[in-house]
Amino acid sequence: MSTDSIQFSVFIKAILDTIDANAEEVAELDRAIGDGDHVINLQRGLAALDNIASELDALDWSAALMKVGMTLMSTMGGASGSLFGTLFISMAKTAKGQELNTDNLAQSFSQGVESVKQRGKADIGEKTMLDTLIPAAKTLQQQVDANAELKLLLDAVCQQAITGMESTKDLLATKGRASFLGERAIGHIDAGARTSQLMICAIADTLTN
Ligand code: ADP
Ligand code: MG
Repeated sequence: MSTDSIQFSVFIKAILDTIDANAEEVAELDRAIGDGDHVINLQRGLAALDNIASELDALDWSAALMKVGMTLMSTMGGASGSLFGTLFISMAKTAKGQELNTDNLAQSFSQGVESVKQRGKADIGEKTMLDTLIPAAKTLQQQVDANAELKLLLDAVCQQAITGMESTKDLLATKGRASFLGERAIGHIDAGARTSQLMICAIADTLTN
């Protein structure tokens, strides 16, 4: 991958499509254990990114990630707005001055996830987006370290994101709105874990094809 080959507009389109296709399911998940607005917050942020897609394509990957983060932060709202914003802003900082390759991408993603943990004061097992993001980042780093072939690497990352997302079903929530429900949150998948997984698998799909 070279700096020129990252087409943010293509990824944004793929992500918009998958979120739109699964919007009703995600709304239902957030209605069950949250306040139901997660998918609307995310769609608002993605529409804002779609509006600046050609601008993003003209930037190097660090500057583009920074603009993505700032845009999500200022348009999304909700707990997820500041968390997804933090993810991309932190990724941008790690990417700054670095060539775009799988190694640097893995490091940037890991650091982004680390910043989400700090911002949300949360970790794996608390029934949040982190149950998707942490295993995905870890798998990406392991696969890159093992020099895995790109398609296998992307498959593994998407698979771990799915496993992590599904794990939220049986968890008690200890962070976010769902934590107010106690035992009643058990049996429901976390909305942010589901959208994070959908986005990761859409990016993996796009890179594979
Ligand atoms: P809000 O909860 O403010 O209505 P959203 O509905 O947009 O915001 O986002 C809810 C999602 O945010 C949850 O499904 C969960 O994945 C994630 N989330 C909430 N609080 C935290 C936290 N402290 N750490 C990590 N993720 C969190
Ligand atoms: Mg909500």
